[in-house]
Amino acid sequence: MNLICTGTIGIDTIETPGNGRREELLGGSVVYFAAAASFYAPTRLVAAVGDDCPAEFLDTIKSFKGVDTAGLEVRKGSKTFRWGGKYMDDMDHRETLFTELGVLEEAPPRIPEAFKSSEFAFLANSHPAVQLDMRDQLDSPRLVVADTMDLWINIAKDDLTKVLGRVDGLVLNFDEAELFTGKRNPVTAGRHLLELGPRFVVIKKGEHGCILVHRDGLTALPAYPTEQVIDPTGAGDSFAGGLMGWLASCGAEDPGSFESVREALAHGTVVASFNVESFSLDRLKSITAADLHARFADYASMIRVG
Ligand code: AMP
Repeated sequence: MNLICTGTIGIDTIETPGNGRREELLGGSVVYFAAAASFYAPTRLVAAVGDDCPAEFLDTIKSFKGVDTAGLEVRKGSKTFRWGGKYMDDMDHRETLFTELGVLEEAPPRIPEAFKSSEFAFLANSHPAVQLDMRDQLDSPRLVVADTMDLWINIAKDDLTKVLGRVDGLVLNFDEAELFTGKRNPVTAGRHLLELGPRFVVIKKGEHGCILVHRDGLTALPAYPTEQVIDPTGAGDSFAGGLMGWLASCGAEDPGSFESVREALAHGTVVASFNVESFSLDRLKSITAADLHARFADYASMIRVG
């Protein structure tokens, strides 16, 4: 089944406590998402960059097998989205150093006609108005999931609330769930968000895993314990890529059911654990489907109880 995604393509600057500072890295929510999802299902990418975007970034995105880039726009005279982040000593918390919205302040990217019938859709982190526009252009998707971030909760909460009314699922960090709802407990925050529309909410807690608050149940999964945490950027997006990629490929009658989403979360967890083992997309570029399957088997045996 086809999966469509929209979000940011970014030029990132990353500061880490142990591995230094890197500038001009390929990043962006939809890039990590599509790279991860394409291990599982054909993935259609819709995003815009300015003509300042390095050619090798575009080549890397096009090199991901299974990613259809017919919806990638390079806009003359526009500026590519830029973001800088600095990680704290625990590598789990970070501070945004700067955000330069560039093309995100312009008209949303156009969805190619052939993409409008996509059955699965992921609205990766971007301006909620862009997410809404994309949602409204799709014919009749079976499952739509969105991600968001503190910036959008702070500057576009009304649009974000409208997004929640138009999606089946929401994925967000614990701090963001608290910021949105004012609720400190993740389960309470998740239930509050369910009232705004989605059937399920996934609350990510970094190295502590994630909590699924679904209308039909509640569960938690640990993160895969990797020793090599070089740069956590994109962990959330690659997690969502594994989640949605697996749901698009598994053929479940009801892909948004509690059981389907729970199993998909395990795939998201495993692909995200690879992503944090390098800066930018380096690790995801180097692994194979066999590497993913081997780590998944390892993870599945770790979490099996009873
Ligand atoms: P994650 O670590 O999963 O939250 O993803 C970080 C990536 O998202 C980085 O590569 C950034 O380029 C991009 N990003 C950072 N801030 C935003 C934002 N407010 N909206 C969309 N994308 C963002």
